[in-house]
Amino acid sequence: MTPVAGKVYLIGAGPGAPDLITLRGAAVLRRAQIVFHDALVDPGTIALAVHAEKIAVGKRCGRHSTAQRFINKRLIDAAARFDTVVRLKGGDPMLFGRAQEEIDALRCAGIEVEIVPGVTAALAASAEVGVSLTRRGTSRSVTLVTPRVGDGEQAGDWTQSVINADCAALYMAAGQAREIAVRLIASGMRTDMPVVVVEDASLPTMTRTVLPLGRLGRAETLGLRGPAMILLGEVFRDVVAGARPDSSATPHEPLPEALSA
Ligand code: SAH
Repeated sequence: MTPVAGKVYLIGAGPGAPDLITLRGAAVLRRAQIVFHDALVDPGTIALAVHAEKIAVGKRCGRHSTAQRFINKRLIDAAARFDTVVRLKGGDPMLFGRAQEEIDALRCAGIEVEIVPGVTAALAASAEVGVSLTRRGTSRSVTLVTPRVGDGEQAGDWTQSVINADCAALYMAAGQAREIAVRLIASGMRTDMPVVVVEDASLPTMTRTVLPLGRLGRAETLGLRGPAMILLGEVFRDVVAGARPDSSATPHEPLPEALSA
């Protein structure tokens, strides 16, 4: 007799606002029996899983998070007990969410996996700024990049990818904003390159800070509390030029003289 094998859905919750999940994602959540969700997922989205047991499994920068291998194991165990298991991830599950490790572990255990895409944070951030990441004639490429390296991982050269693209969205980067600016400028990027830092994109708590790369200071000086996206590119020049002083933001700490614009 073969054991009952459930299916695991990797669902993108979207960037935050509960109504930015897809109709498909919401429908699967409604019939889910168990949901393993990231800490970043909004309670309003988790609440769509009306019948499910809900289990938080990390990942919040700097706070306790469940080890990836343990998450994989819990998903496999749940699929042996339930028909519909959901792994709910912020944004899109296939970007910067360690989805491949979960997919590989599940497939290896012979469990069916379906992926339901979501709105990734970079796109929610560009919507908040109201600036298209691509533009005829001036921006044909967008790079989605993270400077963050996991334990025991080789640091790749993300700077070249940012420099070679017309526009960049940097994930998990705000905590190292100053180091990022220093590295990009050292690699030849102009100090007046327009930057927009968008925090809590799609949520009522959203903040936007526009500034030239040369003035991108320490994370504390950005006054960020929630997840934040660093957008960078010439497409944002009009936003930087038109920026009014933001009364909610603390003053930005300039980079050393040699590096500032
Ligand atoms: N899979 C997710 C990304 C996970 S990495 C996605 O597709 O969006 C987590 C990083 O995403 C955060 O460090 C931050 O850079 C970004 N992020 C997530 N939600 C965000 C939001 N609402 N506003 C701005 N940035 C966000």
